[in-house]
Amino acid sequence: MQFRFQLVVILAILVAACSERAPETTVYDPAHDYFSFANTDQFATEHLALDLAVDFDKEQLRGSATHRMRRIDPGAGEIVLDSRDLHVTDARFLLADGDSVPADFRIGETDAIKGSSLIVTLPADLDPAGELRLRLHYATSPGSTALQWLPAKLTADGKHPLMFSQSQAIHARSWVPLQDTPALRITYEATVRTPPELLAVMSAVNDPLTERSGEYSFEMPQPIPSYLLAIAVGNIYFAPLGEQTGVYAEPELLEASVFEFADTQAMLEQAEALFGPYQWGRYDLLVLPPSFPYGGMENPRLSFITPSLLAGDRSLVAVVAHELAHSWSGNLVTNATWRDQWLNEGMTSYLEARLMEVIYDKDRADEERVLSYQELLLDLDEVPAEMQALAPRLDSGDPDDFQGTIHYSKGQLFLQYLENAYGRDVFDEFIASYFDAFAFQTITTERFLDYLEEKLLPLQPARVSRADVEQWLYQPGLPATVPVPRSATLDAAQSMAAAWADEAVDVADIPIDSWSPQATVHFINSLPADLSQERLAELDAHLGLSDTRNAEIGRAWFIQVATRRHESAYESLRQYLNRYGRGRLITPIYAALAQNGSDLDRARDYFEQARTAYHPITDASIARALGLDDS
Ligand SMILES: [Zn+2]
Repeated sequence: MQFRFQLVVILAILVAACSERAPETTVYDPAHDYFSFANTDQFATEHLALDLAVDFDKEQLRGSATHRMRRIDPGAGEIVLDSRDLHVTDARFLLADGDSVPADFRIGETDAIKGSSLIVTLPADLDPAGELRLRLHYATSPGSTALQWLPAKLTADGKHPLMFSQSQAIHARSWVPLQDTPALRITYEATVRTPPELLAVMSAVNDPLTERSGEYSFEMPQPIPSYLLAIAVGNIYFAPLGEQTGVYAEPELLEASVFEFADTQAMLEQAEALFGPYQWGRYDLLVLPPSFPYGGMENPRLSFITPSLLAGDRSLVAVVAHELAHSWSGNLVTNATWRDQWLNEGMTSYLEARLMEVIYDKDRADEERVLSYQELLLDLDEVPAEMQALAPRLDSGDPDDFQGTIHYSKGQLFLQYLENAYGRDVFDEFIASYFDAFAFQTITTERFLDYLEEKLLPLQPARVSRADVEQWLYQPGLPATVPVPRSATLDAAQSMAAAWADEAVDVADIPIDSWSPQATVHFINSLPADLSQERLAELDAHLGLSDTRNAEIGRAWFIQVATRRHESAYESLRQYLNRYGRGRLITPIYAALAQNGSDLDRARDYFEQARTAYHPITDASIARALGLDDS
């Protein structure tokens, strides 16, 4: 089946290459989604019904997707969907009388980033006024870029396999044939069949009391963009955190997860007080195995979370605050295209810091603000000027590579700048009205700008002009008016690093036990470049940096170990690269090894040893960092 599909793809490429094509227009339209084939201006899915069997042996989802579609253009005769490596075996339109009409379908254009267009022709005898219900039978490929199939040996219990999805940015099309663009919102329902001892969960209504049966039904009544479609199946169990909140995890991780994320219910209540009502019913967490590529993924009603947050001291829960805040910025009000992603991530980073202030205190939030700001400054040295705008031109490349501190941290600073200009009370009212005005919609940067100009800027016309805002949105770098965050505790840690390096302070007097993990990270980042290997070893021996349980401290330390070629810690570094699969934690360590002038081969060797446990998204980014472009 796969072979036949590949032939179809090859033929499609040949046909596309041979056919005469009109010269393409080069006018850039910022509101256009350049990463989807779908003709959403002619047909739009309103509701999706999935019926899928989960086959761990074949690493395959198999079944059907039924689209209930609105016909926008009565003259259009073809529906174009997004797909990637899907084996579609049948397409038919369901009729009101229970009958169905088979439809012709073919693979159209194929692109390395976007996948393939799947074109379904409307049968001539279909009632043009009737509702369209298109059913596609299909199966996924083992190489589906959204799905990771973990064999039992890579899970916590070692006995049951586990699979999970990561649809953002444009990977939903590799497990469902659909219109894969954030511009469109759909409701969905699903029936999922699994081995009977396993539990399935989705970004939908999950009943914590569900019995294990091997057949599970889901409904998502609120309309979501396709990148928020999510599924996971494994030997997972539920434990409550609060009235509306709980956590799913493998049993081995459940107790630690309940401890680590105990503040989730309080966070939800504080978030509602700040941003308005939570619109999604329950808010649960799913703690995945270490290969989950991100810190968290804001799948609605059920955030997917990396186990690297299980530090044992609740020090890394800012990620949960972040994913929860996405329930407003991103999930409720969504970027129209990936170019507008700062609307999701910048706003969410701003809200995350506001939540951390309320749940913990301002010092804690300021520490995180300073660390993000410093990561942004490092990125601004690397990122090409034309990609430093919050809303740059984005019509090529891979949206997965359009991830980084620009739209997170620069976006956060922009909103902080507005807060400072208008005062917190006024700005909070603006934010709440924004969520209310655009709830369950997708918007462009320009729509946000117009709303800002209508609702906020006139309140104090001299404070911020449209031109000031446009500089943030469309120009590289940071405006001179950037609100630089400050933290007294991080300043103290930085001074301590200098004092210890100058031998004015003994290593035994570094007060690491009284510091937050964020202060320890800042201390490590502040160590001067010319320290000897002996002094690094002394520091490691006294502070236990190579043995830390805190993934962020480990990240900061091992970046230094790799950059400075501190070889006596390389074995610990290698273990760290095998312990975590989250891209943020390990990719920069591989990159630092590759760039230190001596260890590219070693980095490739470590990668070979560890990569079977990495997610395809992480694997691809590390392969790029190590110059292994063919993988
Ligand atoms: Zn986010």
